[in-house]
Amino acid sequence: MYHVMLVPTLNCPSNCSYCWGSKDNAGVMDIEIIKKVVEWLEDYREDPVHFTFHGGEPLLAGYDFYKEALPLLKEGLGDRGAGFSLQSNLWLLTDELAQLFRDYGVAVSSSLDGPKDINELQRGKGYFDKTMKGYEIALRNDLPVNFICTFTSYSKDLVDEIFEYFLECGFNLKLHPALPSLRGDNSDPWAISPEEYGKLLKILLDKYLSHLDDIEIVDFDHFCKSYFIRKGTVCVLADCLGNTLAVDFEGNIYPCYRFVEMPDYVMGNVRDKPRVEDLQQSEAWKIIQSFMDLVDESCKKCRFIKMCRGGCPYNALKADGGHIKNVDPQCTAYKMIFEDINKRATKEMMANMMPSDPSLKSGKRGGIMSLMIK
Ligand code: SF4
Ligand code: SF4
Repeated sequence: MYHVMLVPTLNCPSNCSYCWGSKDNAGVMDIEIIKKVVEWLEDYREDPVHFTFHGGEPLLAGYDFYKEALPLLKEGLGDRGAGFSLQSNLWLLTDELAQLFRDYGVAVSSSLDGPKDINELQRGKGYFDKTMKGYEIALRNDLPVNFICTFTSYSKDLVDEIFEYFLECGFNLKLHPALPSLRGDNSDPWAISPEEYGKLLKILLDKYLSHLDDIEIVDFDHFCKSYFIRKGTVCVLADCLGNTLAVDFEGNIYPCYRFVEMPDYVMGNVRDKPRVEDLQQSEAWKIIQSFMDLVDESCKKCRFIKMCRGGCPYNALKADGGHIKNVDPQCTAYKMIFEDINKRATKEMMANMMPSDPSLKSGKRGGIMSLMIK
């Protein structure tokens, strides 16, 4: 399966302090681009495709856009399997949209950084109430929502409070570290260091393992599964080149949504129906390929290379001024969490070999191993 992120616009009505992904007065995708996406992908690859509507704020494209886009994509590519996700602040969600998304099985994620006061500080006044209003609309239309929680230089010290909040609300959680961007420096003061991110991951894994029946933190499901099968199950832990693509409102194709509207990273346009071989000729493809070559060399002695693959090439580019010189600086964090998983797995295996160990009699759902085989 491969992943195509559709970015209908970079406009966004919210004004989160650390956001680098939005842009004022940006264009909005016309349904013609979706028709071109279908024509392009019909001959691009034969495996299933997963579409994520991302932004900016993708709901700004409006109900009429989605009412046409979803059947076009589903029916146009359905014979090979087409799935959908949407990442939105939910401010513009309506009953009509929620029902449409539910009918097409769209997996909706929103962003929430914890209790209201933390959101007000990090994401701006009014963010929390507007997102919660959208969440209620989703709920009453049986549309499940997961939340992405961004941890910043401020909120990293509030991890207990944030975890308790998600636990009490019964919200599932995906973690996102605030990171520097190639598109501006407004996120820099909020960014957390690789050491801080690694520490945060370890603390949260510990909490998660004590509440496996009560909450889902998808990042750890991925870290553990990737460790177990020796292959990354999310883009950051795998070779993303060619397996993740993004399309902007004009049909330009990029390696990932993080590069959208950066002209140097355009690999082609859906109107030209490029084949994989055509995209491979682009400078952007060659840059990301050079990252993979560097990972093969730099990480060859790392025991986690198969389940990490050097991390994210975008982070690596940002760290070295737009050049590939090193692997993802979050390497420190990845090593910290994989070491922790390794230690816990070894301990659990030992305990399994000694069934008299009291920890096996607790009656609670299993530990790290249960996440590996989830
Ligand atoms: S550039 Fe980074 S975020 Fe984008 S697809 Fe690749 S690994 Fe994922
Ligand atoms: S943990 Fe670090 S050294 Fe190991 S594969 Fe990942 S980026 Fe490379």
